[in-house]
Amino acid sequence: MAQNNRHLETSYLDKRAWLRALVLGADDGVISIAALLMSLLFAQVSPATLWISGISAILAGGLSIGIGEYVSVSAQKDTEQAAIEIERVRLEQDPQNELNELVLIYIDKGLSRDLAVQVAKELSQKDGLAAHISDDLKIVEEAQPFQAAYVSCVAFIVGGGLPFLVAIFTNTLFEHKTIPIISTGIATIASLAFLGYSTAKMSHAPITKSLRRLLVGGIAALIITSLLGMVLA
Ligand SMILES: [Zn+2]
Repeated sequence: MAQNNRHLETSYLDKRAWLRALVLGADDGVISIAALLMSLLFAQVSPATLWISGISAILAGGLSIGIGEYVSVSAQKDTEQAAIEIERVRLEQDPQNELNELVLIYIDKGLSRDLAVQVAKELSQKDGLAAHISDDLKIVEEAQPFQAAYVSCVAFIVGGGLPFLVAIFTNTLFEHKTIPIISTGIATIASLAFLGYSTAKMSHAPITKSLRRLLVGGIAALIITSLLGMVLA
């Protein structure tokens, strides 16, 4: 039973890191690619330019966010590994001091002194390093650079691919220039609303808050690059 709970907790935490990379990649993909497309559509570039710019930006952005996540999460992982190594050495060299440290942490959390001593002793006998990792260093999950990299990269490509496909299709099908602009704008806002809604659902957060954050930021980006496109046209 205890084994089971531990497993549940681990998969929940894994999901949290995974979700963070997914949301980061998808939001970034939708907003940056849609903003670029708005500028190009308002500037009335040729269909070939729209194609090449869109594909290049999606690929460049996906690779960039993937590499960025890999570097950032790797650095976090290195820092955590170094801190764990220090804990391990301290536990070997001065176990009594480390035990006292745990006792103080549990007293801070609200346990009575006797209970804190008992908890610290039992946890130290079972797996002292694990107790220090979670309660002293407060590391709840192992950082996974590669997972963060590919999840954010794929999410960026899918997120950016959606407004891109809408822009390309409507731009090819309709003579009138306002149709691709309006369609891409609507597809972008709908994607952001969907992302905001599903993020809130998955992370059990308030839906309106999540929606507002994404929509305000996304619409602001679209307006700014649309103005740029008008100026450049
Ligand atoms: Zn410690």
